[in-house]
Parts: sequence; structure tokens; C-alpha cells
Amino acid sequence: MYRTHTCGELRKEHSGSEVTLSGWIQRVRRLGGMTFIDLRDRYGITQLVIDEKATKSLQQQVDDLGREFVIQATGKVLERESKNSKIPTGDVEVDITELTILSPSAVPPFTIQTDTDGGDELRMKYRYLDLRRDVVRENLVLRSKMAVAIRNYLDAQQFIETETPVLIKSTPEGARDFIVPSRMNQGEFYALPQSPQVFKQLLMVAGFDRYYQIVKCFRDEDLRADRQPEFTQIDCEMAFVEQNDVLETFEGLTRHLFKLLKGIDPGTFVRMPYAEAMEKYGSDKPDMRFGMIFNNMTEIAKGKDFGIFNSAEYIVAIAVDGAADYSRKQLDELTKFVQRPQVGAKGMVYVKYNTDGTFKSSVDKFYDQNDLKTWVEACNAKPGDLLLLLSGEKTCTLQQMSALRLEMGKQLGLLDKNTFKPMWVTDFPLLEWDEDTKRFHAMHHPFTAPKPEDLEMLNTNPGAVRANAYDLVINGVEIGGGSVRIFDSALQAKMFNLLGFTKEQAEAQFGFLMNAFKYGAPPHAGIAFGFDRLVSLFAGLDSIRDVIAFPKNNSGRDIMIESPSPITQEQLDELGLKINIKK
Ligand code: ASP
Repeated sequence: MYRTHTCGELRKEHSGSEVTLSGWIQRVRRLGGMTFIDLRDRYGITQLVIDEKATKSLQQQVDDLGREFVIQATGKVLERESKNSKIPTGDVEVDITELTILSPSAVPPFTIQTDTDGGDELRMKYRYLDLRRDVVRENLVLRSKMAVAIRNYLDAQQFIETETPVLIKSTPEGARDFIVPSRMNQGEFYALPQSPQVFKQLLMVAGFDRYYQIVKCFRDEDLRADRQPEFTQIDCEMAFVEQNDVLETFEGLTRHLFKLLKGIDPGTFVRMPYAEAMEKYGSDKPDMRFGMIFNNMTEIAKGKDFGIFNSAEYIVAIAVDGAADYSRKQLDELTKFVQRPQVGAKGMVYVKYNTDGTFKSSVDKFYDQNDLKTWVEACNAKPGDLLLLLSGEKTCTLQQMSALRLEMGKQLGLLDKNTFKPMWVTDFPLLEWDEDTKRFHAMHHPFTAPKPEDLEMLNTNPGAVRANAYDLVINGVEIGGGSVRIFDSALQAKMFNLLGFTKEQAEAQFGFLMNAFKYGAPPHAGIAFGFDRLVSLFAGLDSIRDVIAFPKNNSGRDIMIESPSPITQEQLDELGLKINIKK
């Protein structure tokens, strides 16, 4: 038997009993003739002590020990004289009489503790050592708990967990596919799924009624902190439902997770149409933890001698709570912030609403105190607030203000990681015009149904048609998205046509789906949550990498196993592939 207890288990009550522990050596300390060893496993750390009166051979063994050695130790539990209240086992220590080295360790490349000295690259190269650290492992424990909670919840709601294939053909979700060459069908390729979209719809045609899967998906995109080439979705589909049924079911799931894993009730989930989110927050994923709602100043602020505003399509303002005392330097820095290429504004106008009721602005030359008063009134600002204004082409200006709003939220400390404000954004545009290719793209995907009241506009003004689509957004992060689906083959064919597919192309790519719709397709709708994002949100992390056991780096590489990597000529020949790399 390797152990009678784990390293996190022993308490005062165990004093006097003989125990055996196994684990990794966190550190060895010598004090006079005594040796103290912190023994660590997943469950905790227990102090072992080797007394000066221990046998010679035991003393000698201790001399060989080093960090991260795996040992087994047997001895008696003693109550400690000087207790350590920082760890649950801090009341006791184990007085060792027998010790076995199960596995020695080379000197680890970084220290295995919360505040490690290892940099990112090094920790990724030795991810198995990084995973020994509590802070890293805890994120994965949370991930596991969340997966179990999701399964239990959806299972209780009659969802059937169904696996769908990983070797498929291209799904049109808008990203690039990962491609796998077929050996048995040379010259032909599988694609890895960007999502199980078409399969889950086929499961609805099959009468499964409710499907879910916690599933790996693959998108060959450039990577950012919240993107990985392979990621996990909580993927769902339901039949005989309308939008509201889906929202309620998944609001229920989200609430359940918050309650179970964080002990909190996240309050009502606001539902906001896309158009309103854009006008009020300049974003389709607004962070609702704080206000600073946009005010349209286009009418109010025009008509004086300020040419920049007069020529602008749109003028937007936010009132920043209590920031009228921002210094010249801080305001200059904000101007620099909006002028960064990532934000792209030309300049910024400010108005300080002083506590004495007067106004000081960067455009005092053009606007008198009365003008500025109408501005602050329009923004519902109060003395002590700071008004920030941006102007220009409407869409760009709204986006720029969204960036500025978030920056102000950050500067004022309003992005509290322990506050959660979930919301639904609904009624997205069905189509997006692409200037480069001069054609429409589906904003969500081609299977999304238009809102019934907008159906007619498909013929007259397709760009204005709203989709029966929705996103779950929490604290400015898109956690999930889905839609009510088209279940009529004629409408689906029309959609493909609008998206620029010829009849033949649509038939070749999606004939199976349109064919399936001919055999009794129920009305259906679904959603997928980004599981990694949800876990990282719950863990208070900014990057999804930290909730993935073996993530890829920003170049899509696994630097531990060194992948991707070349394959042998023999493998290439077998696949019938010739490689011609342009460098
Ligand atoms: N397949 C979609 C996605 O991956 C989700 C859905 O529409 O259910 O975003």
C-alpha cells in the first residue's frame, strides 16, 4: 500500500496513529539535527520530520533527497509545537521512521509553488510540472466540476449527449478549417469540425429532440488571449422550441453553474437587441458591470463654429462618474489612447462639470457655458462628472467610444472580477456585406433563420433583415451564441443563393442537409457556449490558456511535444502528398 492518507488529510485527531504518505518533496529544511520535509500531493502539504535520534540509515537517506523526488514515508502523527495556521494540516507533523524513494527527480527548471520563478515559455515546455502547482491545477479542477454540473443539469432536462464525428467536411462557420489528408482516398481531405452544427441539426431531424455535447472544435485562426486552435464548446440543440425556450433553458443552466460553483445569483439577464447594444455601448458584447451609456449628441452639438463636429456624421458622449478632477496630463493620455491605431479616433473632446457648477472644456472657444450645460443635461451628468465626446463616421465612432468606455471602466476600477452581469444580445443582422468579395456573409451561419417579420425584406433589402439569433454575454465576453434554424429546404436554398452559392455549389456542399429537410424536419434552435471562456470567467482569468491542461502558444504550437512537426517522406508518399513550401 503506497499510502494510508493523502497529504491534505491529517488533523489533530490523527495524533498518535501510524500513517504512510506518498508524494512529491516541496522542500527540505534542516534545523540543527532535525530535518523537515514538506510533502505535497494534489490534496495538500504535510510536514514530515526526521528526528536527530532517527537511525543512521534513515539520516543517510535524507541526505540524498531533493526537490520533486517522489517518496513514500511512514511514521507517527504528532501534534506540532509550533502550528502553521496557513495550511489545513498545520496542526500536525509525521515523525518518520521509514522512507522509500519511489522516484528521484532532476532539479526542476522552475520552482513548483504559487509564485513560481518560471517564465511563460518555460512553464509551457514543462507543462506537467506547471500543472503540479496549486494555482494551475485548481483551474482544471474547476473545469472538471463545471463539466459535471453541466452534464447533470442537461441530463435532468432530457438532453441526450451524443458524439459527432471529428473527421468531417468543411463547415461554413466563417473561420478557416483544419484539413486532414485521406490516405485511403488520395487527393481528398477531411476537415476538422469548427462546430458540430450540421450534425446537431440532423439529430433534430432524427427526432432526438434535445442534444448536447461537450465537444472539441477546431478553427484555424490567428490566435489571441481568448482563442486557441482547438477549444471546447457546450453544444446544444432543441426541437419544437422558439427563441425564448432556448434562452430560458440556457439562462437556467448558467444560473445553476453560478449558484453551484460560485454561490451567487447573477440577477436578471437583460435582453437587448443588437441595434440597441450598438447605440448604447458601441458593442455587441457590452460590459454591463458599469454604466457610461452612450448619448447621441449629433443634434445638440452641431451648429456652432466647431468644424469637426459640424462635418461629423455622428457625435457621441459618455459621462464619467466623478472624473471632473482628471488632470491635464490624464486627459492628454486619454486623447493618446483614442488616437492609437487600435482605436483609431482623430481626437477627443472633454467637458469638466466642476463641482461649483461651472464648465471647463477643450472646446471653450466654440461653446459657451450655456451650450455646455445643454450637453451635460443631455447626458444626465452631475457636478463632478467628466464628459468625453468622439465624432466621425457613425459605426467607427461608436466602436471608438466603446474602447474608451472600457478604458474608463478600467481606470476607475469598475471591472470587478467578482461581479457578474450576464445578458442576452438578440436580433443580430442576418447578413454582413463584405466589401472585398462584394457579397453577403452570414453573420452567424447560413442555417440561421430570419426573424419572421423580416422575411419579406429578404427580397427587397436583405442587408436590413434581422436574424433570430442570440448571444450570451457576461462582463463583455461573448460566452455563447446560437439561433433559431431554418427548417424548410426552400428557404435554406434561398439563403445559400443570397450568400452567393450557385445551386450546384449549394447542392454539392449541403445537399445532405436540404435533402434531410425533405423528410420531416421539426422546427429547431440551438446554442453553443465556449466552455473554456466560461471556465476562465469563473476562475477570474483573462486567458483561456490557463484553463486548458495542454494549451498551444500564440503561434499555435505545443512547445512541449513540439507540434506541429514535419512528417517523414514515407508518410507523405502514403498520403500521396507533395510538399512545396515557399519560404
Ligand atoms: N455552431 C454555432 C457556433 O459554433 C452555435 C450554434 O449556432 O448553435 O457558434
